[in-house]
Amino acid sequence: MAQAPAFNKPKVELHVHLDGAIKPETILYFGRERGIALPADTVEELQKIIGMDEPHSLPYFLSKFEYYMPAIVGSRDAIKRIAYEFVEMKAKEGVVYAEVRYSPHLLANSKVQPIPWNQAEGDLTPDEVVNLVNQGLQEGEKTFGIKVRSILCCMRHQPEWSPEVVELCKKYRNQTVVAIDIAGDETIEGSSYFPGHLEAYKEALQSGIHRTVHAGEVCSAEVVREAVDILKTERIGHGYHTIEDQALYDRLRKENMHFEVCPWSSYLTGAWKPETEHPVVRFKNDRANYSLNSDDPLIFKSTLDTDYQMTKRDMGFTEEEFKRLNINAAKSSFLPEDEKEELLNQLYKAYDMTPPPATAAGQGP
Ligand SMILES: [Zn+2]
Repeated sequence: MAQAPAFNKPKVELHVHLDGAIKPETILYFGRERGIALPADTVEELQKIIGMDEPHSLPYFLSKFEYYMPAIVGSRDAIKRIAYEFVEMKAKEGVVYAEVRYSPHLLANSKVQPIPWNQAEGDLTPDEVVNLVNQGLQEGEKTFGIKVRSILCCMRHQPEWSPEVVELCKKYRNQTVVAIDIAGDETIEGSSYFPGHLEAYKEALQSGIHRTVHAGEVCSAEVVREAVDILKTERIGHGYHTIEDQALYDRLRKENMHFEVCPWSSYLTGAWKPETEHPVVRFKNDRANYSLNSDDPLIFKSTLDTDYQMTKRDMGFTEEEFKRLNINAAKSSFLPEDEKEELLNQLYKAYDMTPPPATAAGQGP
């Protein structure tokens, strides 16, 4: 019998990767359809190889993508379908609003240097990838009745892609694209200062494209500080190590910085050592602004409920805290103000809460 959800109410998810949230069945289907070799031919076997059960390192986690990305990348049908199925997956989990992220370059096989995943050159450009994902998400929204927006990722090790990423954000803004991100290996020395990333984030700021950055997941608080001061980020992806720099943590709390926390992910990637208190407990106790997110449910063999179960069971999270953090997630979403207000009202209603007067008047904090 399926376990009852830890928080059986509408939820907001802000940090989840499209290419880490694919159904194993879909990988197998496109592998067969396109004649691309996969390490397994049943769902169970495939999950055993690409899934994780025990804590490991971030590079080990990143190596998992090598197994299955070739079945998806470069295929118009596959890309549109994973976007559509993502919306279905989130609707089933009780998510009413999600922001899903991906690197357009990592799904393309044309006008991208180097061509990723050892693909032969084809004719699918990063620009068309974004268009296909938008179509899949929009069709999914119609069918499954939830709202989904997207975030385009720069990659730490490929700063030369970043200027095009921000241009795609501008071109497809309001056709689901709301923000820019930097994903990948944050241990790359000096990567916050790579000119491509600097240029892209400067342009994003100037053109009103929202900004988030993966930072302080495995690296020190210094990378978080760079994301805030150099890249002018509005949210932090993970950010666990922020708490090691008390002054920075105090400042970010004062500025109401939002932390996109991924508890189960942080356990499996080794970003959090289970013998220590999880930073999200500190965030909870300090009533900081954060959300709970699944990150890469395909590889972590999880759903968003896994993260809620973990924090409820092991960290004493209550229904009240789940409500509070989802309201903070909605407030920190990259939706335009009127849609944000609508989402907040939807949550207040579902949570049996009275909207605070300032928010009801449209002038919330
Ligand atoms: Zn992530």
